[in-house]
Amino acid sequence: MSLHGKIMKIISLAALFCLMWNSIYAQNYQSVTAESGDGIYSLLRRNGLDPSEYLAAFIELNSQHLGPNNSLIAGRKYKLPLKKSASSTPAASTRSPVVSTPKKTVRYEIFGPQYQDVALIDNQLKGTVYYLISGHGGPDPGAIGHYNGSALCEDEYAYDVTLRLARCLLEHGAQVFMIVRDPKNGIRDESILKPDKNEVCYPKQVIPLNQVARLRQRKDIVNKLYEQNRGAYQRLIEIHLDSRSKGTNIDVFFYYRGDSSEGRRLALTMQRTFKQKYDRHQPERGYTGTVSERNLYVLKNAMPTSVFIELGNINHERDQKRFMLADNRQALANWLCESVIKDFTSRRK
Ligand SMILES: [Zn+2]
Repeated sequence: MSLHGKIMKIISLAALFCLMWNSIYAQNYQSVTAESGDGIYSLLRRNGLDPSEYLAAFIELNSQHLGPNNSLIAGRKYKLPLKKSASSTPAASTRSPVVSTPKKTVRYEIFGPQYQDVALIDNQLKGTVYYLISGHGGPDPGAIGHYNGSALCEDEYAYDVTLRLARCLLEHGAQVFMIVRDPKNGIRDESILKPDKNEVCYPKQVIPLNQVARLRQRKDIVNKLYEQNRGAYQRLIEIHLDSRSKGTNIDVFFYYRGDSSEGRRLALTMQRTFKQKYDRHQPERGYTGTVSERNLYVLKNAMPTSVFIELGNINHERDQKRFMLADNRQALANWLCESVIKDFTSRRK
């Protein structure tokens, strides 16, 4: 081979090497900033990566920037491992890396025609089971408020917020049981939610009028499902508007069972989240929601860690606004969902 030929061969080998180097090492890793309180687990989960699959790759990629015991330093940027694609063919691997989760959509008729298709956003709540009870229902409308000649029934508004919460939890990979269910009404965007007595208890039991029988029915089905899901992270959330008559200073109240430190933790996370949201969106409003223990039948007798929520007073003008606008009902559900995700992901750190 002539000198010229040798040089050409070296150049072409170098070019080939550069090409390979590029394809192996110059991938476009997505960078994310660690927030205070973040660990590798929560950061990965928030970005749709299952820690059991991506933990090692994350540590390898970011070893220069981790604190003691592989902790994250808040405010620092970290590279996310590339998502492994299920069908990793050579052709696919030359395409730009996949950073968003492929959306999987599942139909749940309970949400009604407009909301029944639920797309999975991420798997942050994978492995969790939630039992959601909206207060009252069936023959019992709960508290009744009045607005311009229309009756506002607690059970309908509590149900709508609860459905929205259920949908949000499903979007993040949770398993959800709507314990009180309305086979006719899905999520509704109207401000006046027409009262009815359609609600049944999971799966389709008639709800009794007697209060003790009604509460026992809910507790029994939750405990039965709890047994079936033993070993999973399970939570019960019960949503009411207001079950007591109060003065003008009404806010969102969170209750837990006195001996349940996990219930208290979830309730506190919810309250903190609500306070942050109100401080951000309505700073002049002030927020006085509280967390306290309470001796309620469901809190006392249900097996999963539980939180009982009162979202406000259906007879109070300011609170009525909170419930009558569909966007506000959605915001309440989103904040509850966010709290639930925080509680779960921080616990597993
Ligand atoms: Zn109630």
